[in-house]
Amino acid sequence: MKVLDLDIDPSAAGLSLELPAQYRELADRAGQLASRLAADDHKWDADGLFPWPEVAVLGSHGVLGMTHPEEVGGAGLPRLAAVAVIEALARHSFTLAEATQIAANGPAYVLSTIGHPRLRERWVPAVLAGETLVSIAITELAAGSSLAEIATTATASPDGWSVSGTKCFVTGGSLAGAHLVMARMSPAEGVRGLGYVLVDADAPGCVVRRVHRKIGGNATPEAVIELDVAGVADEAAVIRPDAGGFALAMQSYNAMRIGIAGICCGVARRALDLAEDHLRQRVQGGRPLSSRQGLQWRVAELELELEAARLLTYRAASRVDAHGFPDALDTARAKLAASRVAVSSADAAIQLLGWRGIVSAEDHPAERILREVRGWTIAGGTSESLLNMLGRAALSTGGGGR
Ligand SMILES: Cc1cc2nc3c(=O)[nH]c(=O)nc-3n(C[C@H](O)[C@H](O)[C@H](O)COP(=O)(O)OP(=O)(O)OC[C@H]3O[C@@H](n4cnc5c(N)ncnc54)[C@H](O)[C@@H]3O)c2cc1C
Repeated sequence: MKVLDLDIDPSAAGLSLELPAQYRELADRAGQLASRLAADDHKWDADGLFPWPEVAVLGSHGVLGMTHPEEVGGAGLPRLAAVAVIEALARHSFTLAEATQIAANGPAYVLSTIGHPRLRERWVPAVLAGETLVSIAITELAAGSSLAEIATTATASPDGWSVSGTKCFVTGGSLAGAHLVMARMSPAEGVRGLGYVLVDADAPGCVVRRVHRKIGGNATPEAVIELDVAGVADEAAVIRPDAGGFALAMQSYNAMRIGIAGICCGVARRALDLAEDHLRQRVQGGRPLSSRQGLQWRVAELELELEAARLLTYRAASRVDAHGFPDALDTARAKLAASRVAVSSADAAIQLLGWRGIVSAEDHPAERILREVRGWTIAGGTSESLLNMLGRAALSTGGGGR
């Protein structure tokens, strides 16, 4: 029988939000590898050491290159598979998850997909082997949330591009072989004049001015990079204002943003696992803590938020354009939800673990988990800027921007 004049096939597939079985297996294997590699990962944070040997092992297993096209040595896997792997890594090691994220979803992926072939050949194989990384340098002291205020310039001349300005809080900036720099490349005002130019870290005039120690995640330090570089090859202009411009730069950024959402889902899962194990095992007042309704409700709320965040993350990672870049609004929803639940789960875990939650990381990982994830409601688009984006979309088109 027709319903509303439509002949609907009752056997048609429903909405599938499950990971394909192969991706689950891939993620399980990634988690097992990370648990072997990261037994001492609190030391990486404490000593501010990037684990190059362990990252190279990830490279040798194809993990760093999983999303990159096969012609540059990658596995050509869909974004969803990469997000599932990164989520699984983050359940064991934030540092290994972040290193994988930078290689698989970050600037090197932009080079693989839309970079000049010579840039690809020069940088991508080394990144996929875990020998170097490419950083993304957007933020400036006076241009944080508002990219229209970016002052770094890239000026073309017959001798190549001259790049001049100072970037701050560049993740891995002191470790990188090259920086993908957002710069003002045309006289057009605001974001319309912006594009990306790739600058070698060892080019004369490219200087790491300082490295920040921060609340957590110190294995991957953030750096201030000063640029006064001349003679940058024309092909290094990866995105030009008149060819894709700011819109393409932001579209490519969605690959990074959805990876952050994946990391946050993994971190939230880890924090909740620690808390739930404790509540099950710990007996106080003659009963396991897990039998206390107030604690059950706290866990239930967070589980609900995490499940919603994972579904949003998987959906966003599944809906990508021809370059493998996810949709902006999907990604904003996912990153907002996942970073929120990661921070609140990490904080709740500390409360639910009692004193164990605040002893230093060599005795219990909970305090480090909160420190590692705290920055991720700021990095990759602050929660407020994502809310601005979602609010604008909802109010301009209705239906939440759909
Ligand atoms: C862990 C971490 C890693 C990072 N890695 C990199 C990197 O690799 N490369 C890079 O270039 N940058 C990086 N950043 C920098 C990051 O992109 C910026 O911190 C971010 O864009 C915000 O800029 P800001 O910190 O200057 O904050 P500000 O712009 O000064 O904002 C301060 C606060 O005000 C809010 N706010 C600002 N404008 C508005 C508005 N219009 N409406 C409502 N609220 C608003 C913000 O959301 C924020 O809460 C990283 C940051 C972190 C925390």
